[in-house]
Amino acid sequence: MKHLAIREDIIATCKRMNASGLNIGSAGNLSVRIAGGLLITPSGIAYDTMRPEQIVEMDDEGRYYGDFVPSSEWRFHYDILKARPDVNVVLHSHATNCSILACCRLDIPAIHYMVGVSGGNIIKCSDYAPFGTKALSVAALAALEDRMACLLGNHGVIALGKSTAAAFNVLQEVDNLARLYIGTLQIGKSVILSEADMNVVLQRFKTYGKQLKDIDPNLTERVEPPVHGGASRG
Ligand code: 13P
Ligand code: ZN
Repeated sequence: MKHLAIREDIIATCKRMNASGLNIGSAGNLSVRIAGGLLITPSGIAYDTMRPEQIVEMDDEGRYYGDFVPSSEWRFHYDILKARPDVNVVLHSHATNCSILACCRLDIPAIHYMVGVSGGNIIKCSDYAPFGTKALSVAALAALEDRMACLLGNHGVIALGKSTAAAFNVLQEVDNLARLYIGTLQIGKSVILSEADMNVVLQRFKTYGKQLKDIDPNLTERVEPPVHGGASRG
């Protein structure tokens, strides 16, 4: 079978999403870019029973191949991968906290610095459009402009990444941010970080988790380790 490792990774990521409480049942879908097209979860099949041969291949012209129909959301997967060469994975779920905010049609403002994982200082909620429509794809693309995630009005969330692991991390973080925002709304008095504060966060994210050899020494705003004491303490 072509692309077996990617097919298995797609299923494993979807199972992980449900096991982590970040999706319910057969809701949600996942696509991965391949040369000349994409691989996408089939429509309406439970992840527990999903087999690699049921993952659907689509080409660059939007045709699908094989015996199984692709996710009903193939349009936004196809459109996002086409419009966003910076990402390889599109992950959609009905994560509860994201969906609560999406039902209230609320963006997530900069209540916490980790809003920066989205690539900006606000995670937008798209307009509503029925599932599986071109209109939903258009609304999602608009809310995703310059961002790695958006909420989908009265529906759920989309998270993007270069890899399935990266998209999963974005989904997990955005659902946590959604939960934090719901909590702050209950207290009623959150402090929203300024654009200047968030610009610093976005700069520092560029060096976060990197080794010194991979960091541009000319960057002024960056994560700094303590003084290096040598290869080992001896
Ligand atoms: P599919 O099973 O067709 O992927 O649909 C699930 C979903 O979440 C629709 O928005
Ligand atoms: Zn959905």
